[in-house]
Amino acid sequence: MVETLIKNGRLIDGSPIEIAITAGKIEAVAEKLELTADTVLDLAGEGYLSAGWIDDHVHCYEKMKLYYDYPDQIGVEKGVTTVIDAGTTGAENVRDFQQLAAAAKTNVYALLNISKWGIVEQDELADLSKVQADLVHEALADLPDFIIGIKARMSKTVVGDNGITPLELAKEIQAANQHLPLMVHIGSAPPELAEVLAHLEAGDILTHCFNGKPNGILDQATEQIKAFVWEAYRKGVVFDIGHGTDSFNFHVAETAFKAGMKATSISTDIYIRNRTNGPVFDLATTLEKMRIVGYSWEEIIAMITEVPAKNFQLTTKGQLKPGFDADITIFELIEAQKELTDSNGATRIATEQIKPVKTIIGGVLYDN
Ligand SMILES: [Zn+2]
Repeated sequence: MVETLIKNGRLIDGSPIEIAITAGKIEAVAEKLELTADTVLDLAGEGYLSAGWIDDHVHCYEKMKLYYDYPDQIGVEKGVTTVIDAGTTGAENVRDFQQLAAAAKTNVYALLNISKWGIVEQDELADLSKVQADLVHEALADLPDFIIGIKARMSKTVVGDNGITPLELAKEIQAANQHLPLMVHIGSAPPELAEVLAHLEAGDILTHCFNGKPNGILDQATEQIKAFVWEAYRKGVVFDIGHGTDSFNFHVAETAFKAGMKATSISTDIYIRNRTNGPVFDLATTLEKMRIVGYSWEEIIAMITEVPAKNFQLTTKGQLKPGFDADITIFELIEAQKELTDSNGATRIATEQIKPVKTIIGGVLYDN
């Protein structure tokens, strides 16, 4: 007898799947499962399911003034089972964030900002006295299950006159802490993108990869991808979308796609204002944008499940396998037109929409 049995499910490639869940974990997976269960969820005619969606770049510490939101409003209510807060907090306020986040239905993790108060002000890396490796180390030791990586925002408004130095400090901190995942945000220069990428290794995560700024991946004169960007990409640097208010440009994404450079993972950089007023709204909308750029739904689903789980070492998430957490997103694909707007006001007309309808987190079912 299992707790919950999902019958007549379908994966994004159309193949049938049934899943047994007990005590928050996936117990069995097969095309057909003949088991008795306390609760049976029959999905006949209900579209598709996948491992629970993971959004690896959000801002959801509600006590912040610049970038904040509420985990469940960007998580479970949007079909997202796991959110990774990307550096909203630092060593001084991450403990408070963790306590608040523990009350959410959505799984919440944090990338710790190397600046000790996180993004209290836009220029958190302009004063290097706020980067204290010992404080980072203590926070990591206190919250090893919550802090799954570190974050450094490497753009002019954030670093002030410090150039590449904050990234050098971030790499030192990473090296001293079991080589934790490091996410680096890019934007306007200085520092130059070439210099940022030269410091990144395979597995490091570059977010805002398809932003439309002059210091982005495209040479604005030739419309070609800059040679050093290819070098970093081929080296294995993770290219993460991090849509955000300012950082997703259709033309850049399309040019890269045509050249054979695909993003590695999809994330929103969502917070209350770009959720409420756009252009982000939710993860599903960002997925629809990737679809219209040319990615297949199979690729897109992998980019928000197994790929981020691997990149952030979430070893019990991202896959529908026995022993994994029972995090599942149930969704529909609808043929209908919808105008989508990027961060620079460019629009495209989507003909396919993706709509989460039910979310299962740790074996508990929520309707969307
Ligand atoms: Zn962000």
